[in-house]
Amino acid sequence: MQFSSRRRKFITNSQTELYGHPLQFYGQPPLENICLTEFEAFSVDRLKLLKTIENLGVSYVKRSDMYKKKLDSESKALNFPYRPDADDRKPQAGPSEYEKRRKDHISHFILRLAYCQTEDLRRWFIQQEVDLFRYRFNELYPPQKLEFLHRNNLQYDTISVEEKKPLRDKLVNSSYTVSGITVEEQDFYKVPFQDALDLVRTRKVYLKAGYVYIPHQDIVTIVLNDFRTRLSKALALTARSLPAVHSDERLQPLLNHLSHAYVGQDYSIQKNVGKISLDQIDSLSGKSFPLCMRQLHQSIRENHHLRHGGRMQYGLFLKGIGLSLEQALQFWRSEFIRGKVDADKFDKAYAYSVRHMFGKEGKRTDYTPYSCMKVILSNPPSQGDHHGCPFRHTDPELLKQKLQAYKVSPSGISQILELVKGMHFQLACQKYFELTHNIEEANFSLNHPNQYFIESQKALGGGKDDDENNVIFDKAYAYSVRHMFGKEGKRTDYTPYSCMKVILSNPPSQGDHHGCPFRHTDPELLKQKLQAYKVSPSGISQVGAVLSRLGLRLASAICF
Ligand code: SF4
Repeated sequence: MQFSSRRRKFITNSQTELYGHPLQFYGQPPLENICLTEFEAFSVDRLKLLKTIENLGVSYVKRSDMYKKKLDSESKALNFPYRPDADDRKPQAGPSEYEKRRKDHISHFILRLAYCQTEDLRRWFIQQEVDLFRYRFNELYPPQKLEFLHRNNLQYDTISVEEKKPLRDKLVNSSYTVSGITVEEQDFYKVPFQDALDLVRTRKVYLKAGYVYIPHQDIVTIVLNDFRTRLSKALALTARSLPAVHSDERLQPLLNHLSHAYVGQDYSIQKNVGKISLDQIDSLSGKSFPLCMRQLHQSIRENHHLRHGGRMQYGLFLKGIGLSLEQALQFWRSEFIRGKVDADKFDKAYAYSVRHMFGKEGKRTDYTPYSCMKVILSNPPSQGDHHGCPFRHTDPELLKQKLQAYKVSPSGISQILELVKGMHFQLACQKYFELTHNIEEANFSLNHPNQYFIESQKALGGGKDDDENNVIFDKAYAYSVRHMFGKEGKRTDYTPYSCMKVILSNPPSQGDHHGCPFRHTDPELLKQKLQAYKVSPSGISQVGAVLSRLGLRLASAICF
């Protein structure tokens, strides 16, 4: 792949050939030039797709209708191929099938670059890609499956009806999925036995003279094994070429971001600043903090100290939920000086790093709160550290005790531990959310500790749903604001009201606050108002005297 800052696309014959089938083994890397915007957009979309696969794999049986339906709709929404019968010769809305296949191809290779870097990343990537491949292969029509095998040098052929007839009973007896009725209609692949060791070991196929006879729905097992092996080798090879890729300063930050990527809202935006007070933190930590932050909070309260990793993870989280710099300094200082650090030492050694976190020192980077992927994949905690993700970094027995202490039910704990065992850490956290908030199914996909906090506040009814409020505002009020500026309706650029207009037209009714106070407010109330605004008693009497003679504007001038 080559990268340029301008979009250039040329379709070669080999490229068209590459996308001639709905499914790929990703044997050939893309050879065309793509722009960096496309590079980023493709990779983020594929990551979204893979994360959906991860979530669906835990919530549904992998071949179930619901699983397929949800994956269909996600692939469709993200413009990845999802229909094996799609054909560019027929008119269709949106990107063509060629473009979808191209996106599928390129995005796969970009994520290879991002996800070949560590064992954890490779394992996660292979698992999701294999699941995606399984789903797509199963969706193919039988002739497409055969074509796919041949295109990829898996020279397995189906046996003819004549060949099948004498083997009929053997085939029925040796396979769970074949009955006397279906054997006639089903295709059977004849495969060298060494290519199907899994099926032979589990005695799922008929073996004769070095060949096994595989019913068409089981051929996916072989193809998947092959795909997994190829991908695993390819990732190891890609990892070797990483130094060259990392020397490209345009790509390195993108790839690093992708491998720690969290897809969704950016919680760095400081729209919450000042929304919580320091007194609320203790109760919020019990109700609305995810486990990682709850344990950090507990630790700072108990030990009055946190090491750098913990301060960064927790400090940025607190910043994200709305602590201002002043509040943060106060929070950290009050805790540290309760421990072994005096105020002077705190100011010299620690205050800098708190200000740094808020972008007020050093490079002045406004650091963003860590996403789950970042917490899970980078900087694992050592002894004495309290940062990290408890679902990833805590010993299961300890995690169990922690959950018991937090009053999670025994059955809930088993479900969480089961997810942890399957390395679905974010799903385990989501389960913890459901159990601690007493809801059946969380209707979000957890990616970020700050997202956990916001969802919790929503569930508990304490958090304002800014998005909802925005929708209401947009529907009901934004029009009139734009109208005022001449951008709606008759497009009149309205002028500010004069005193005469305010005094003479549209007098306020109960509950209104417009109008002129010297004209429309009861004299006794006006007096109180002027007192509250620190107008001297003699001034108030003068205003009253002028008003009694109906000198409204003069009264206002006196006030001025
Ligand atoms: Fe924190 Fe994310 Fe781990 Fe939950 S999954 S404990 S939010 S890092």
